[in-house]
Amino acid sequence: MLPSIITIDGPVASGKSTIGHLLAQHLGYLYLDTGAMYRAVTWVARARGVPVEDEAAVTALAQSLHIDVVPPTADDGRQYTVLADGEDVTWDIRRPEVDATVSIVSAWAGVRRAMVAQQRRIAAAGRVVMVGRDIGSVVLPDADLKLYLDASPQERARRRWLERQARGENVSYEEVLAMMLRRDEIDSHRSVSPLRVPEGAIVIDTTGLTVEEVMACVLRYVETADP
Ligand code: C5P
Repeated sequence: MLPSIITIDGPVASGKSTIGHLLAQHLGYLYLDTGAMYRAVTWVARARGVPVEDEAAVTALAQSLHIDVVPPTADDGRQYTVLADGEDVTWDIRRPEVDATVSIVSAWAGVRRAMVAQQRRIAAAGRVVMVGRDIGSVVLPDADLKLYLDASPQERARRRWLERQARGENVSYEEVLAMMLRRDEIDSHRSVSPLRVPEGAIVIDTTGLTVEEVMACVLRYVETADP
């Protein structure tokens, strides 16, 4: 029997989203990239003038904001469409200003409570690949298969830099590396649900591997998992 609930955690640009999306497509499962939810709260906070440092205000926003992550509604390279109170914010949440502040927003306990409750509701139906930082450790600790992807900081920064170049953004590799390390640092050291390898997770180092090679490795674990 194939695992029904699969979690993928890991640091910035470790390959979680690419692999999670491909795996969900391959299995015909729902794919949920939970980073998009924290990004949506961050983007809307900025758009509505809510200071990200104001825990009470950001928490109230996270509790009231209606976030939907649905199949792509446009053929523009997106993996999914993100709606925040009905508005399409799919590309806005990828902006550098969101990268720069999302780790402040996601460290607030109340924000996490609101997001985790939604994530658990979505997973309850099963047949899901859920991707993030705390999915195997906190959100779905009883998942059937837990993966943790990692790669060297240099390789991760290079991947993210290439992605941003492809989107026409004028940003240096050094800037991308510095921002990525700052985000990993905050995500790994916050008091609530820090990024860590979940108990029972299989760690895959994707440094130097192609997407096809990582997928082959992941599929071996999926096919031999004993849920
Ligand atoms: O995965 P992505 O880089 O889009 O995530 C954006 C940010 O959202 C992370 O840097 C982290 O601060 C937060 N996040 C989180 N828990 C998750 C997913 C993302 O704290 N499960």
